[in-house]
Amino acid sequence: MLEVLIIGAGAAGLSAARQLQKKGVSFKIIEASYRVGGRAWTDQQMLGVPVDMGCSWVSGADKNSLTKVGRNAGLTMVDHTNASEALYVGDRRATDAEWDQFEKARRKIDKRLSKAGKKGSALPASAVISKDLPFSATAQSWLGPMDYGVDFKDLSTLDHWEQTDDQPSYLVKEGFGTLVATLADGLDVSLNTKVSRIDWSGDGVEVETSQGTLRAARVLITVSTGVLASGDITFHPALPVEKQEAIQNVPMGLLVKVPLLFDGARMGFSEGEWVTYKVDEDQAGKACYFIAWPCGHDYLFGNIGADLGWELSRAGSDAAVDYAMGALTSMLGNDVRKHFVQGIMTDWAVNPLTYGAYSVQRPGTTGARKALGRSVADRIFFAGEAVGGARAALANGAYDSGKKVAKKIAKKALAAR
Ligand SMILES: Cc1cc2nc3c(=O)[nH]c(=O)nc-3n(C[C@H](O)[C@H](O)[C@H](O)COP(=O)(O)OP(=O)(O)OC[C@H]3O[C@@H](n4cnc5c(N)ncnc54)[C@H](O)[C@@H]3O)c2cc1C
Repeated sequence: MLEVLIIGAGAAGLSAARQLQKKGVSFKIIEASYRVGGRAWTDQQMLGVPVDMGCSWVSGADKNSLTKVGRNAGLTMVDHTNASEALYVGDRRATDAEWDQFEKARRKIDKRLSKAGKKGSALPASAVISKDLPFSATAQSWLGPMDYGVDFKDLSTLDHWEQTDDQPSYLVKEGFGTLVATLADGLDVSLNTKVSRIDWSGDGVEVETSQGTLRAARVLITVSTGVLASGDITFHPALPVEKQEAIQNVPMGLLVKVPLLFDGARMGFSEGEWVTYKVDEDQAGKACYFIAWPCGHDYLFGNIGADLGWELSRAGSDAAVDYAMGALTSMLGNDVRKHFVQGIMTDWAVNPLTYGAYSVQRPGTTGARKALGRSVADRIFFAGEAVGGARAALANGAYDSGKKVAKKIAKKALAAR
């Protein structure tokens, strides 16, 4: 009997597969999509240049397992650690005094969140910040929607505390998705194979897919918590209540990326510059912030997160591109439209293979990520970004978790021979 069936060929599934291959354990890796990489995806077609639709930053690059993968593959890792930042107030650049206020807001908010999280409090971030701080909404818009994919009411101080925000961070010129896809080299991935049911009532597991039924001693599931919560994969018998609760308590946040291609004009921004503008204090999270010309490419990356991101995803690509262009013209004026070529929007919100961008742990809950990571009946195992520990939500968290769980499974499989 096949020893392990891996569901999903993203960073977690691919690293697990490589580990099992190394250990000499038999496995099959199946993937619903036409491509590998999952949420690590570099599109080359839509704008005619590499665009990272999912992950972009190799964060904590000096300790990140994927840095070595990228270097070994000969990819161009571009240091983005100390990128410059532009801050606008309306249609002008911020004064030094405004910059100071913004920096102070960022520091104070982070301090408040960390203080609560350090104490083990899983409070909504919105409950611990002071409301009367100038530039508070501007700072919240980066930290909540654009970092975690949720507004402050949905961000847990504990989840914030438990996750590492590492520097240095690198961008990959050929794309982070390109980097993750190299993990599939030498692996036989069954693409276009969508799982709909997992039966673990007998010995081993029986997995129904769009290409027929597969049997294995164990299954490793790496799909997002959005997919797990959707019910698109049913379990027989149902998963234990503890597992079902864990899935509900680690829902998906959303970051929508809106890459905007220009004709080569630089509009006053340097390569890799962060572009932020002041948001009205009652509009925290309702913003589109940008990264200009990443790795020298001719596009700006608009980033829209959380509730506004879900709303614009429902409205469609034109609405998101209009919103991003509106934000840009408010800062720079309508003349920039002359240089605009094309804009696109990522579809993670509505994509049935993700249903969101990356996971967050709900305020008011503790231990959900750990509970999610526990195996069921020694036959159903879980890996992926949601159980990535201090690097949850990140591609390297996914990669490391896949490797770790595969080691555990290999031990069991080899002992059972
Ligand atoms: C917009 C965005 C920005 C991000 N930015 C960063 C960043 O800058 N840095 C960073 O480190 N991380 C970032 N991330 C997060 C990172 O991309 C993810 O954490 C990581 O890629 C997740 O890997 P995974 O293997 O856990 O899951 P996935 O990549 O989702 O892999 C799971 C696979 O399962 C497949 N699947 C789903 N359902 C089924 C089914 N029914 N049957 C079979 N297969 C199925 C999917 O198609 C997918 O390929 C970002 C993500 C997004 C979306």
